Amino acid sequence: MELIIGSHVGFTKEKQLLGCVEETLSYGANTFMFYTGAPQNTNRLPIDNDKTLEALKLMKNSNIDYNNVIVHAPYIINLANDQDDEKYNFAINFLKQEISRCDALGIKKLVLHPGSHVGLGSEKGISNIINALNIVLNKPSEVVICIETMAGKGSECGKSIDEVAQIINGITNKNRIGICLDTCHLNDAGYDISNFDKILDEIDTKIGLNKIYCIHINDSKNILGAAKDRHENFGIGTIGFQNLINVIYNERLKNIPKILETPYVSPDDNSKERLYPPYKFEIEMIKNKKFNDNLISDIRNYYQQTQK
Ligand code: ZN
Ligand code: FE
Ligand code: FE
Repeated sequence: MELIIGSHVGFTKEKQLLGCVEETLSYGANTFMFYTGAPQNTNRLPIDNDKTLEALKLMKNSNIDYNNVIVHAPYIINLANDQDDEKYNFAINFLKQEISRCDALGIKKLVLHPGSHVGLGSEKGISNIINALNIVLNKPSEVVICIETMAGKGSECGKSIDEVAQIINGITNKNRIGICLDTCHLNDAGYDISNFDKILDEIDTKIGLNKIYCIHINDSKNILGAAKDRHENFGIGTIGFQNLINVIYNERLKNIPKILETPYVSPDDNSKERLYPPYKFEIEMIKNKKFNDNLISDIRNYYQQTQK
């Protein structure tokens, strides 16, 4: 089976989509996910059509199937809380614009964190999300919004398969809604990744496996059910190498893009600066299905040498 694997990559002002593709190729990946600006804010630049065309050409020549490429909406968009009208409407309008940007780039999948109810309670939070999404999806486009499964940190909605199913069920335009699984989030929400087929069975019954459009592959720094959401590098967290490999190579999930969002590595153990992307080396382990005991030092050596 052909593995569809990639990572989060940067989208810069100068190079835009072309930079994403170049970074992807440097990791030996065949797909990627990006934010159309900083993940933490909503400042966005216009899309450069020339750069987009150049990127499309490069993808064609390097066997990256554009249908597998994903955009992640900024995580400060919160559709779950409607206490402040202005903020709620801003989030709705920003999401509409984000879909227009995806259209301009030719992207078909947009991953979205459902949002935090911040004291309103899950039921109200979920109904706010449904209401907002139905407004956004009213405008014609081919972009599918993929609701991500969350860890349950703070007052996050979408921390269980039931909550995600509730959101999906409330959406009128069913063709334009899907889900994105995240292994770290599922673990932190109390789903045991070592029995992934059981999780898939539940998703199949309550939502349908055909609604899975993307899988975020991350190890976790925290134990099962911790409700924390802190990603760890591949194979060195509480989920572990073999369990993540089993998710990636699960036959029921073939043809679904797998995206790494594991943390950048610091130059040394005492440094808090996260400078080096781990993806080239993690993807190598995934392809070989073999754990690299020297993962972190290999990453440091590689980037320290290329910087000289
Ligand atoms: Zn996410
Ligand atoms: Fe994620
Ligand atoms: Fe996360």
